[in-house]
Amino acid sequence: MNVYGGDVFDMARRQFNIIADHIGMREDERDRMLYPKRAVTVSVPIHRDDGSTAVFQGYRVQHHLTLGPTKGGTRFSRAVDLGEVAALAIWMSWKCALVGLPYGGAKGGVTVDPLALSPRELEALSRRYMQEMIPFVGPHTDVMAPDMGTNEQVMAWFMDTYSAYQGKTVTEIVTGKPVASGGTVGRREATGRGVVHLISRAAEAIHLNLSGATAIVQGFGNVGAVTAQELTRRGVKIIGVSDHTGCLFDRRGLPVAEMERHAAAHRGLAGFSNEAAADPATLLTQPCDILVPAALERVIDDSVARNLRCRILAEGANGPTTPEADAVLRERGDIYVLPDLLCNSGGVIVSYFEWVQDLQQLFWEENEVNQRLTQLLDRAFQQVSARAARERVGNRIAAMAIGVEKVFAAKQLRGLFP
Ligand code: NAD
Repeated sequence: MNVYGGDVFDMARRQFNIIADHIGMREDERDRMLYPKRAVTVSVPIHRDDGSTAVFQGYRVQHHLTLGPTKGGTRFSRAVDLGEVAALAIWMSWKCALVGLPYGGAKGGVTVDPLALSPRELEALSRRYMQEMIPFVGPHTDVMAPDMGTNEQVMAWFMDTYSAYQGKTVTEIVTGKPVASGGTVGRREATGRGVVHLISRAAEAIHLNLSGATAIVQGFGNVGAVTAQELTRRGVKIIGVSDHTGCLFDRRGLPVAEMERHAAAHRGLAGFSNEAAADPATLLTQPCDILVPAALERVIDDSVARNLRCRILAEGANGPTTPEADAVLRERGDIYVLPDLLCNSGGVIVSYFEWVQDLQQLFWEENEVNQRLTQLLDRAFQQVSARAARERVGNRIAAMAIGVEKVFAAKQLRGLFP
């Protein structure tokens, strides 16, 4: 199968083979586990504000249907291609299985720079993308959510467009919606909150006191900014942050709330401070207690991994660490790794809660959402830690092995369809 290409898909494939070897999966079973059930490519035309017509390329990949509908975010980014979307869908499958959600993984995206669109053009693109996807998605087939470059407003447009075609409101077609249109309290913050909850568990494991600890966060969007806020609340000093427009570093600590206001007003961190401006190329390797990549894939390669000077690596982003870098980290053994599958699973966990609430039309209080979130995170954390210790492997191999085995067991029981 060669429709899926590129570095990110290659990374998902290599990671899967490491796990398949580890758990002793037969060669002839592997393709069925790895390759997506379906992939859809669409052309998404919009009218630009200047009267011209532009066409963007859109994708949706549904990895497997073995455990229920597929679930996954939609990414608007210049780097989106079919291979990246497929890799992200595959990782979602292992993640959902790891934390015990009744979903297969999916992912979607449009190859576009969303910041180059006006608000009207962004709405047109969002609505047309969903319109093109209507034959392929549904509350019991495939449920979308936000990812890089999309947000609550985009989810509201997706839901509205789908609903208009059904002639009724179908809130359960997407998660990550605004609370005012069927979203759940706590979803917007869920990924960052989950990251920080797991950081506190990792800190306990290595006897690191969070109060007074230091952190660096790469990416200052939904995941990065909420993580920075929640860490600050626990007494952690944020000494470095970056986004696609700028990079700031100050050993004395950076003012997170002020940076958020600036980023919201100016579409990025650029211009926040000349004094704290720093080189993004060296941000990840500055000394700190907690390092949170919360932006792009493959930013930690083997050379960065050799130079990391953190005690906890908390992967808010999907796929920030290459398999070669992971081998370096395992060899080093001095960094506590919270792998992406586990670390950022708070987002899909609360998306699942949103879907359940929408299906039942019965809404929970925020403390119930948060309490159930931490319960699922703690269970997964314990399972991963126990397996890593038992099999003397890193947390990433343990987490992926649990996810892959669950999907494999369900496939063995059902047969060839899903
Ligand atoms: P977002 O669009 O809200 O934010 C992305 C951030 O990354 C922005 O601040 C952007 O400026 C920054 N960025 C882009 N290029 C960069 C670069 N070269 N250097 C530094 N920063 C850069 O997206 P998000 O929802 O926060 O997603 C971030 C990551 O977290 C992605 O890998 C996504 O798949 C993952 N994730 C998101 C969720 C969620 O609930 N939103 C859940 C799980 C995982």
